[in-house]
Amino acid sequence: MRSLLVRHCTFLWLLTVNPAVAGAPPVDGATLNRIADAGFNHGEVVETAAYLADQIGGRLTNSPAMRAAERWTQSRFLAWGLKNVHTEGFDFGRGWWIESSQVRLVAPRPLALRAIPVAWTPATAGPLTASVVVAPLRTERDFANWKGKLAGKIVLVTWPEPPKDLTEVPFTRMADGETGKLNKYPLPHFDPEERGKRIESQTFPGKVDDFLAGEGAVAWARMSRLDGHLVHGEGYAYQVGKTRRLPGVELAAEDYRRITRLATVGEVRLEIDSRVHFEDGDQHAYNVLADLPGRDPKAGYVMAGAHLDSWIAGDGAADNGAGSAVIMEAARILASLDLKPKRTIRFALWAGEEQGLLGSAAYIAQHLAHRPVPEDPVLAALGPYFATDTFPVEPLPGFAELAGYLSTTARASCADSTPRAISRSCRRCASGWRHSTVSARAWSSPTPPAAPTTSS
Ligand SMILES: [Zn+2]
Repeated sequence: MRSLLVRHCTFLWLLTVNPAVAGAPPVDGATLNRIADAGFNHGEVVETAAYLADQIGGRLTNSPAMRAAERWTQSRFLAWGLKNVHTEGFDFGRGWWIESSQVRLVAPRPLALRAIPVAWTPATAGPLTASVVVAPLRTERDFANWKGKLAGKIVLVTWPEPPKDLTEVPFTRMADGETGKLNKYPLPHFDPEERGKRIESQTFPGKVDDFLAGEGAVAWARMSRLDGHLVHGEGYAYQVGKTRRLPGVELAAEDYRRITRLATVGEVRLEIDSRVHFEDGDQHAYNVLADLPGRDPKAGYVMAGAHLDSWIAGDGAADNGAGSAVIMEAARILASLDLKPKRTIRFALWAGEEQGLLGSAAYIAQHLAHRPVPEDPVLAALGPYFATDTFPVEPLPGFAELAGYLSTTARASCADSTPRAISRSCRRCASGWRHSTVSARAWSSPTPPAAPTTSS
């Protein structure tokens, strides 16, 4: 069932490539039939998705798994006959991966805990055992309460919020009408207050790390924001020179709450064994690009993209292995049919998307448009995701060549084949790509941007 749905989504994507759907030139029914046959009866999208998620697995940017994905996706594009298959690098930072990790309650009783190292935190030097102190740190004002009390401790830095009652059904399938409503582009708007909160959320963990290390703490643990023993291990200290000083782990909310309860009545000791590794051989991250050449060299190109990188706690199947597999399947099908589109179709698999849309922003900076780096060094260091109000945005010579964009891939595959919760996440990812691309067009145009051309 699932494989049929995924194939169905790929076919839907391919339909959008056909100019007839956009209401322009006449329908080429024979070609549509060939595409449909290739997708429904001879599809390989499930095999592609399975290799990405099962064989390669989670693809944190610049990790060994992401490098493997960069190589493997290029090899597939080449084997399918795509042209101009290459990577485009951009400055990123350190690679990082988990060899193994274990967090145990040692006292008052032995218990294996559900936990994951926080991305880009350092390893422990073997098993590290220490008493815990529950010291919730929500703002810098909280630091004063804990000065002189943290030496030698594993510090639990999150306030142990109680679980929230479920008030809505966690998983529902979207009906046709609902998925149709997703097909809207939200115009970007600048909200200084929102940006301020985001900057604080990005910079505060580094201040906490500095404070804890300065106080002589030996490690820290935070509580997962999700219940049900779900952990994610999100972390952003990937830049060279920004690496945290202390090992950090994220505990399942249920385990974290239990430890904080125990800590109110006696000593609690934890053992953390975090075997993680940094990779500094190449600090560039790489977008993977492949072309299906068009027959008119003056017609420019259209793009279709999804992000290949993912987080550490899962296999990167839904976010956004699904979108990547659909992009790759579309490329495979169109190449296999030896179609001669008017415009080149460029397929892109982005890197660094989970760290702030870095890959698609790098493509824009390299090919489409330039915007000034913010004067504020804090803002500049946070990257393009936060630099949304510097002007003028100036088109580069390549800007005029991009005739259109196709970004419904992740959305279609997610909305149609996975639950609402996942589709929300994918919608964000899909709009992220669109945000980068369309914003460059909108901001750099002297007049409002025309509707994108979808004929190819
Ligand atoms: Zn994503």
